[in-house]
Parts: sequence; C-alpha cells; structure tokens
Amino acid sequence: MKYIVMSNNVLGLRQFEIYFISQFNPVDFINSSRPTVFKSTATMAKTEPSDEKQHISEKPVTLSNWYQHVNWINTTLILIVPVGGLIAAFYTPLRAITVAWAFLYYFWTGLGITAGYHRLWAHRSYEARLPIRIFLACVGGGAVQGSIRWWSSKHRAHHRWTDTVKDPYSVMKGLWYSHFMWMVLNQNPKNRGRTDISDLNEDPVVVWQHKNYGSVILVFGMLFPMLVAGLGWGDWKGGLVYAGILRFSFVQQATFCVNSLAHWLGEQPFDDRNSPRDHVITAFITLGEGYHNFHHEFPSDYRNAIQWWQYDPTKWSIWVWKQLGLASNLKQFRANEIEKGRVQQLQKKLDQKRAKLDWGVPLDQLPVVDWDDFVAEAQSGKALVAIAGVVHDVSKFISEHPGGKTLISSAVGKDATAMFNGGVYTHSNAAHNLLSSMRVGVIRGGGEVEIWRHQNNQKGVYA
Ligand SMILES: [Zn+2]
Ligand SMILES: [Zn+2]
Repeated sequence: MKYIVMSNNVLGLRQFEIYFISQFNPVDFINSSRPTVFKSTATMAKTEPSDEKQHISEKPVTLSNWYQHVNWINTTLILIVPVGGLIAAFYTPLRAITVAWAFLYYFWTGLGITAGYHRLWAHRSYEARLPIRIFLACVGGGAVQGSIRWWSSKHRAHHRWTDTVKDPYSVMKGLWYSHFMWMVLNQNPKNRGRTDISDLNEDPVVVWQHKNYGSVILVFGMLFPMLVAGLGWGDWKGGLVYAGILRFSFVQQATFCVNSLAHWLGEQPFDDRNSPRDHVITAFITLGEGYHNFHHEFPSDYRNAIQWWQYDPTKWSIWVWKQLGLASNLKQFRANEIEKGRVQQLQKKLDQKRAKLDWGVPLDQLPVVDWDDFVAEAQSGKALVAIAGVVHDVSKFISEHPGGKTLISSAVGKDATAMFNGGVYTHSNAAHNLLSSMRVGVIRGGGEVEIWRHQNNQKGVYA
C-alpha cells in the first residue's frame, strides 16, 4: 500500500493506471488512496465479518455476483481481445512475410519481458544503457502484461513469498490459477505481498512507461506492428491481427507458462523445498526462462541457463549488449556457490534413497548383552556370531553362505572379527552390508565398537 500511495503522489497516475495496478478493484482503489480507511476497514473486517465487509473474492460465485468476481480490464486484455483476434484470423488472409514479421516481433516483445521486465527491472541482474532501457520498455509494453512497475512488484512478491498465500500467482492454488486466473479474478487486497519498488520509481523510463501505459500498449501492442506490415507490404489487417493481437496473446501465454508450467514440470536440481522447476520445454516457450529452479535459487544472476548448450536466448542477448557497450555489471553467482546447492540437493536425494533401504537395526537401538550371555545363547542352539563387538544372528544365512556352511558354523558362539576381516577371507562391501542387516545386539565392553557407538550417539550420527 505504501508504494501505491507514494506513486499516486509522486507519479500523479491517472485513474486507469491506478485501476490497473490495483487490478481494477474498486475497494482496492479506494483503499490505495486512503490507507487509514483501509486499516480500519481491515480491522473491522476481522472483528465483524459481516457480509458487506467481506471482499468479493471471499464470497461464493453465484449467478447474481459472478461479474463482480471478474477483473474486467485484465480479462479484456488477456482473454477477450485474444479470442477476438482468433476469430478475426478466420477472416484475415495469412501472408508469409507477415508471419515472419510476427515471429520477429514476438521475439522482441518476449525479450522486452524476459530481458527487460524480468531480469533488468524485477531482479536488477545487470545494468542497461538508456537506448536499451527505452527499447525494452517499449517492446515489453507491446507484450501487454501490465507496466514494468506493476509487473515487477508482483514478481518480487512472487519470489519473496513463493508458494504462500502472499505469492500473487501461487501454484499451490492450482495450475490454472497460477497461469492466468489470478488476473482474471479479483484478488483480496489483504493477501497482497508488499514489496519494495522504490528503485523502480527512480528510473525515469519505468516512470514514463507506467504513466503512459495505456498509450504504450495501444502503440506497441497493436499500432506499430500494424504500421510495419501496412507501410512495408500493404498488409494492414494481417499486421494488426497476426503481428499485433495474436502475437501479443502468444507472448502473454508464454510468460504465464513461467508462473504455471515452470512451477509444475521438471527437475529440481538446486532446491526442492519450493515448487520452481527446470525444464527445457518451458525454456523453449519462454526465451530461456525455463530453468526456473536455478532462477529462484539465484534470482539476481543474469542467466537462467548456466550451461552453454542450454537454450537461453535472453542471456545471449544481454551478453551481446555487453559486448556492444550497451549493458554492464552482468551479475553471476560464483560457480562454487552454485555447485554447493547442486551437491546439497544430490545429497538430499541420496539420503532419501538411503533411508528406503534396510541397513539393519541402528547400533544404538540394539540391546547390550554380556559376553557370557552371548555364548550361552549360542550354545543353546542360536546361530549367533560376534563380529567387531556386534552380535549377528546368522541362522537364516548359514545355508546360503558363499564360503560354505562349515566355515560360518565354526564361528557360532565366537568372536569372528578376525575371520571376517581377513583372517580367513576379506569380505566384500556387499558382505558387510548384508552382515549389518543381521545384527541383533552389542557386546557389553565390546571394545572399540561400543565406544564408537557411544561417541556417535553423542554426535547424533545414528538415529
Ligand atoms: Zn517462479
Ligand atoms: Zn524472477
């Protein structure tokens, strides 16, 4: 709220733009202008949850109120106009040159989001000179996904509160919710995760784009692509429908995939405590934003893909701008830190696999028996063998012993440590593992083993 209020004063936003940041929620709008009212309303809502005080998002959808649940500005821009574009395509001839232009402009406007909105402004992962910032603000606006300010504020909240109720597009609320329902439906402002965007308010390009956002989407979303096709080869209608509307609809869907698909499909090589995932399909759809597990771990790294062979044209573009002197201070986490994350995650997976296997009863859970009792038990017919101070019940294994029944039987009731560890035969690692699954007790005063067990108990090594 603090920043919206500040922006009202500092930026002198027009109503439409205020509505856009607040997702066209009248309650939100009023509250954003009058923070004290919001505070008292919120407090009242807590103590007196009367029907009028309830936010629309908390009421069930009915035939009489469904239209109040819908955020009509967002829905128009991401659903109604795109569907209109699809219908118009049936009546618009498709020319190869217009398709080529639509693809090129798709790449530019996609880059406006990935290299501009995302990596430059939301994460400050590099610095760009003015011409690049203006280019990215214009073509990013042409992707019709809100202003840089609005987009970055939501995205910072997404990183800060990933998978929680304050994550604006939490995948925990469902794949479709994270994809675009979070924009289609009015959201309760009390769940909004606040973020610091004061740095963005100091960037004149961001401020200019935010103030003129309505014109920016009109010009760069539709008029510019139409003008190029119209003036270039006379295809005004194709330019508007294919390079304009359908092109921005595809860029929208591609970006939405980062919020949905990249939190749902793929591997988690760096951290699996939250939902972000790496997948090449998402990377292909989103100009390289698909290595999302890496990105959430190292958000201020200008790269998403860290291997040279991985698809990340956004990273390549930023690198080229650096070579041209248009970008600088490209931030990269040290390879050592990245490898630490990868190794820790590998270790975690190994530990999970290890936990599923039978490694025998942990030593500290075994009963401690006297040597004489061990011998007496063995003499009474139990096939017990002591090795390294631990008692093993080999009765079910005697007939399967690869070294023969006689040798193992001769060890019953005895300390067979030396025999097992090379006196007769140096057993394999597999044999050691198998042996541990047969342990039934620890010999009191059993030499090194009991001391070892005691020490490990203190360190908490063996649970
Ligand atoms: Zn994410
Ligand atoms: Zn991000």
